[in-house]
Amino acid sequence: MQGLTGKTILVTGASSGIGQAIALRFAQEGCNVAINYRKSLQEAEDTQTAIMEKVCGDVEACHVQSLLIQGDVSQEADVVHLVQQVIQRWGRLDILVNNAGIQTERPAHEISLEEYDRILNVNLRGSFLCAREALKHFLERGSGVIINVSSVHEIIPRPFYLTYSLSKGGMGNLTRSLALEYAGRGIRVNGIAPGATLTPINDAWVQDPQQKAVVESHIPMGRAGTAAEMAAAAAFLASDEAAYITGQTLYIDGGLTLYADFREAWS
Ligand code: NAD
Repeated sequence: MQGLTGKTILVTGASSGIGQAIALRFAQEGCNVAINYRKSLQEAEDTQTAIMEKVCGDVEACHVQSLLIQGDVSQEADVVHLVQQVIQRWGRLDILVNNAGIQTERPAHEISLEEYDRILNVNLRGSFLCAREALKHFLERGSGVIINVSSVHEIIPRPFYLTYSLSKGGMGNLTRSLALEYAGRGIRVNGIAPGATLTPINDAWVQDPQQKAVVESHIPMGRAGTAAEMAAAAAFLASDEAAYITGQTLYIDGGLTLYADFREAWS
């Protein structure tokens, strides 16, 4: 993709799933990659190892670098430290990917305030905090890109996932509002909205062939997406090939947002 080689990217929650695939894809595009992780150093190191094996081959002569940074995106001090670490290491940050996200399944009337705050704090407050810290630096440089990893539940209501749907709905407005506010200052903000994707967050059905078949039966293209497919869209939106695109959320969902129940005649 044009314009990615030599750039520096920070990916939150990059130790697994879509975040890991994004980190790998941008390294393949020639970016230096900061891999944020919350808890598991081992998983973060797996991302780094994948970069080494698939991109570098020879570590000594590798043309891209990676950096592991522990931090909870819902905590202001952690996020300030996260962005500072990237700038300290490479002198710049070009691309932020707000990927870290969590979900819980529960009827809305049983959600505690603690659970409500926990989901919103990671998915939405965390994305705001990371964007805010990145924007301060982008404004100094006069350029920058933010990619928010949203979900089809930005627009599809999802019973039992109220907090998640709220957070991703809010993320859509985070994308549009920031895009508008900073469009004249060299900064682009877009979102990717994955449909059902084969990652650990979906272990409940990914690991169960029967459950997986049920999920996939609702998808017009008949299969779940892969993390690599999500990463490809993120790379496009961050590249110069998307230089005139801002404020958009790109749905990567095998047609899930096309009202799949209308595929066949109802009578
Ligand atoms: P995942 O569970 O593998 O990845 C989520 C990552 O976020 C994990 O690495 C986790 O450690 C990290 N994380 C959680 N809380 C954090 C915190 N406080 N600070 C920093 N990191 C934190 O699942 P995934 O599917 O790869 O999810 C990635 C993103 O994609 C999420 O935002 C999710 O909502 C979104 N998404 C996933 C799907 C899907 O079907 N897999 C669909 C739509 C959207």
